[in-house]
Amino acid sequence: MLKKQEDNIISICKDEGHSFVSWIYGNNSKYSKFEWLCDKGHSNKTIAKGFLKLGYRCETCNFGYFRRNSNSLDNLYLIRLDNNKECFIKIGRTFDILKRIDEFKEVGYIATVLSSVKAKHETIYKLEKKYHEVLNEYQYTPKMKFVGWTECYHKKVLTELIVVSVNNFYLNQLNKF
Ligand SMILES: [Zn+2]
Repeated sequence: MLKKQEDNIISICKDEGHSFVSWIYGNNSKYSKFEWLCDKGHSNKTIAKGFLKLGYRCETCNFGYFRRNSNSLDNLYLIRLDNNKECFIKIGRTFDILKRIDEFKEVGYIATVLSSVKAKHETIYKLEKKYHEVLNEYQYTPKMKFVGWTECYHKKVLTELIVVSVNNFYLNQLNKF
């Protein structure tokens, strides 16, 4: 069955002109992450379920696509995820925040939106990238694997200036990135 997942990925890659490189985190669950090269040669790291079931593809190519569509509004969110075993912060971006919340609920978390900022995709894309760079030391590994599990943080991340100020001056600083 696990072999089948890898076979499916390799088969899709072949059909679409991409190449599978290797597994990065595990290889035995739908939330395992793998590296692959798109047909244009961009390197990507994607979770198996995202690739197979949710249609996630090359971030660089998609970024180019959305950049040309200046009306695409994107969301950067800070969500607290709770179950009876753990509580942590998920930071990410999505075009559809309600759908994203449902995905967290599906895997058993209570999802509370602490903050969300809506802006053009290009702005949000840069802001999210910056967040993950500067908040690296707060990274948290959830007990459960789900789409986005590698972008989670300890609760104390909420005291960081970049996080505290997301709705205030930070967006105005974006052109400095
Ligand atoms: Zn690409």
